[in-house]
Amino acid sequence: MAARRTLKIGLIPGDGIGKEVIPAGRRILEALPASLGLKFDFIDLKAGWETFQQQGVALPDETVSVLKSDCHGALFGAVSSPTTAVKGYSSPIVALRKKLDLYANVRPVKTVLTAPKPIDMVIVRENTEDLYVKEERTIQTPDGPVAEAIKRISYRASHRIATIAGEIALRRQKIRAAGAPSIHSGPLVTITHKSNVLSQTDGLFRSTARDALKDPRFASVAVEEQIVDSMVYKLFRQPEAYDVIVAPNLYGDILSDGAAALVGSLGLVPSANVGEGFAIGEPCHGSAPDIQGQGIANPIATLRSAALMLEFLNEEAAAAKIYAAVDANLEEGKLLSPDLGGTAKTEEVVQDILRRL
Ligand code: ATP
Ligand code: MG
Repeated sequence: MAARRTLKIGLIPGDGIGKEVIPAGRRILEALPASLGLKFDFIDLKAGWETFQQQGVALPDETVSVLKSDCHGALFGAVSSPTTAVKGYSSPIVALRKKLDLYANVRPVKTVLTAPKPIDMVIVRENTEDLYVKEERTIQTPDGPVAEAIKRISYRASHRIATIAGEIALRRQKIRAAGAPSIHSGPLVTITHKSNVLSQTDGLFRSTARDALKDPRFASVAVEEQIVDSMVYKLFRQPEAYDVIVAPNLYGDILSDGAAALVGSLGLVPSANVGEGFAIGEPCHGSAPDIQGQGIANPIATLRSAALMLEFLNEEAAAAKIYAAVDANLEEGKLLSPDLGGTAKTEEVVQDILRRL
């Protein structure tokens, strides 16, 4: 059967275990059943610490231009960072988010349904502003230095992040309706903020998110709010209650790492950096220098990141196949990598999941 669509995907393994898990991401995409009508063209691209040492830049211009002009999406592994600041080196993924205007960081946190306390939520973090504009200054006073930072919240950024959160909630409901088993009965978006203290900045985030979610196309989505401190409490006490959580940059950062801790290993947690019509899948873990080169890295965070990327390229059916194959591996629990208490190598886990696909 002729391919219905060819997706061009940039592959950026980066450093450390990034080089071990990104090839697994490529293989799972290649192994998707032909009946889906998808074909992939892969383009190998460079970024990271090793690239910096070879070329003097962590993110070569070529990587950015190929992603911009030739790719539908990309998979990004991980990059090592020097422990002390090195002149000229800065994080390539942070730069990529800026250059490609990837304004949403999306992090699903999910256990298998057979877990004693199943969890299935997505944290949607605004990725362009808030305290991350990094406009800081230090004023010398007679009582010693005083440091300040700008927290910038805009209507535009708050509106688009709440809108994509609503769209994600609808899509998750669609996938459930198509028969995927779930712990949720309907779509829910929880807006997180601290507007009781920061009435202007977080107040604007809150009111804008509320407005955006009043759009008639979100009529079926329930909307609620949580003050961020109580959000953390509930996230740990009652994680099963949450479906989609939307938050400004800093709270989103903290909530997503906290939520990742609920599922046992960093090796399981995917993410996507999403902009208009473009998505980069990226496992949440780093380059894991402590296990690199041993062939024992858990590939699941990357496989799920590949699926998540496909979701944002409107290939939900393909994404669902990958999720199901991964869940089946975890549910059976026979071929697990060491971070999950097993003894399987990366290659054995990949083989098992490919077989289920
Ligand atoms: P970096 O500076 O690149 O983030 P790190 O030393 O902080 O490196 P992480 O990659 O963040 O390391 O990982 C934190 C811990 O989790 C490490 O002990 C690592 O071995 C483990 N870990 C991370 N990813 C995986 C994975 N995919 N499979 C197994 N263990 C992992
Ligand atoms: Mg780390």
